[in-house]
Amino acid sequence: MTTTSDLDALGARGDSSTAFELRLSDTPVPTAEREAEIAAPKFGTVFTDHMARISWSASTGWHDRRVVKYGPLLLDPASAVLHYGQEIFEGLKAYRHADGSIWTFRPQANAARFAASARRLALPELSEEDFLGAITALVRTDVAWVPSGGETSLYLRPFMYASEKYLGVRTTLEAEFLVIASPVGSYFGAVVAPVSIWVSQHYHRVGAGGTGAAKCGGNYAASLLPQQEAHERGCEQVCFLDAATNTQIEELGGMNVVVVHADGRVSTPALTGSILEGVTRSSIIALLTDAGHEVDERTILLTELQDGIADGSIAEVFACGTAAVITPIGRLAGEDFNLTVADGAAGAVTTRIRGELTDIQYGRATDRHAWLRRLV
Ligand SMILES: *Cc1c(COP(=O)(O)O)cnc(C)c1O
Repeated sequence: MTTTSDLDALGARGDSSTAFELRLSDTPVPTAEREAEIAAPKFGTVFTDHMARISWSASTGWHDRRVVKYGPLLLDPASAVLHYGQEIFEGLKAYRHADGSIWTFRPQANAARFAASARRLALPELSEEDFLGAITALVRTDVAWVPSGGETSLYLRPFMYASEKYLGVRTTLEAEFLVIASPVGSYFGAVVAPVSIWVSQHYHRVGAGGTGAAKCGGNYAASLLPQQEAHERGCEQVCFLDAATNTQIEELGGMNVVVVHADGRVSTPALTGSILEGVTRSSIIALLTDAGHEVDERTILLTELQDGIADGSIAEVFACGTAAVITPIGRLAGEDFNLTVADGAAGAVTTRIRGELTDIQYGRATDRHAWLRRLV
């Protein structure tokens, strides 16, 4: 169990969460109800009692760091975000270890990506200190909401939007940053079943010079119609090709793609500026490299994928991201093809690397890359 001195030690390491004023909810969810909700959480449907919040204005900068009761926002109908989509977000998890301590995984990488996304969307940058402080303050306040057992966690969703009441088109003079938290189980359900992928040959997520490398709501808005098309074609997820040539694999709507060749080499699309740099992607590259796999970040043509799956030189394909961790891709389909990857089941490398990553996240394996950061 966590002792007071452990927490003091955490605090002594420069704890920016103490900058947050706690305004506790007067109507927290009753204990029995909360325990029922975190026992079998469905992804992103239940939220904790509080949210962390920081406001920004061009004249005063970031101010009013607080943890407040979770609830609806007051938004002027003329708020810029509602008209021009100036919004960014992040996604990371807090994991409860067997000894009761609670940890996040590489949150500095999320903080850096959030700052980069803010730059691209012309929003104010938030410091790593405030990003980590907000997460820490919220998780400590709602610590009872962090589930335990199985592949459960507290999903953390930091986001920022342009709140200025102004219909002219220019960058905002006011913004809000919030973190909300949701207890979650496994993203796609109880078992890690392979998913089927529809390769969209008509729609693209982003183009060169666009916002593909930023984690912004607009990219997701653009992916929803193709995602619906994937469903209509009997597939669970959509995979996008590059907008310039319509030949190169980019990524899914919210996950990166990794290809495992039969000879053990691994390839993943290079970061061309139109792909989101996943924290899971980069962690997997490190773990695969540690395990002796040669990992290339390069152009992967759809035709290479089709030919390799057909002739067996591609043994496994998987998707990766924080929410679903690693999800095997069992089938790849498009306008004129429908291919089963190997026997359609999760491959050996996919399964092993998923186990290695989750063992680190849940404290069951040595954190040799120092990826974990203790919150409680
Ligand atoms: C968030 C996201 C990912 C995965 O990133 P992680 O840091 O691994 O969660 C991949 N692609 C897109 C488009 C994303 O928004």
